[in-house]
Amino acid sequence: MRVFLFVILLCPLATITNAHNSPAAVAISDADEIRAGEVLAAKFEAVNGLTPTPQITKIEAYLQKVGERVASRAQRHLPYRFYFDPAPTFKSAVALPGGQVFVGGGILAYMDTEDQLAAVLGHEIEHIALSQCRERLLQEMSRKHISAAEFQKLDLDPFMPGYGHDGEFAADREGVKLAMEAGYSANAAVRLLQMFVLMGQQMPNTSSEAKSNLEARIAQIQTLVESQKPLPAEKPLALPQ
Ligand SMILES: [Zn+2]
Repeated sequence: MRVFLFVILLCPLATITNAHNSPAAVAISDADEIRAGEVLAAKFEAVNGLTPTPQITKIEAYLQKVGERVASRAQRHLPYRFYFDPAPTFKSAVALPGGQVFVGGGILAYMDTEDQLAAVLGHEIEHIALSQCRERLLQEMSRKHISAAEFQKLDLDPFMPGYGHDGEFAADREGVKLAMEAGYSANAAVRLLQMFVLMGQQMPNTSSEAKSNLEARIAQIQTLVESQKPLPAEKPLALPQ
């Protein structure tokens, strides 16, 4: 269920689902997509045993503040909602259709600035704003032959894998652009990815493909860093205690 990642930040690139292979046999409205996301978010909470505590509620309020700031210029205006899953083994984040985003305690632990959080949230927002999550929902509706009145029949697992090379690179690029437009430094995303490269070097099973993939992601974001200079100062992460 939870994605255990040391060298693949944010979403697992290794699992590729090609949305273009599936005929869109069904059509849905934004309201339908939002409802599907709410059903899936409730399933995510149930499967992972998430129950609100005062601290989680405070952290989610902070994620919501930063997330709404980043999402304000997204291509799709949706009721973006940001949840916190405190599990330290959840070292990534997950986007669901309609605007639902879960952030793991494992990845939050690696961040030192709000700018890094903004980059991660921007990446997940773009999986939704670029309609990648919507395409996957349409695929699942088609595969399982379910209508928009039957979203309770959706399984959560198909929404956990990443979106392939092109989808992930697009989410990186557009997500960092959103963060930049919200006043955050693009270099924060580079620093976070570089930390994952370092961590990968300490892991015996890190493949050279995973390493070169991370380096390609860093190179793409470096071009955005160059376009942003002079870089804004990064803001310290202001997680509530
Ligand atoms: Zn991703």
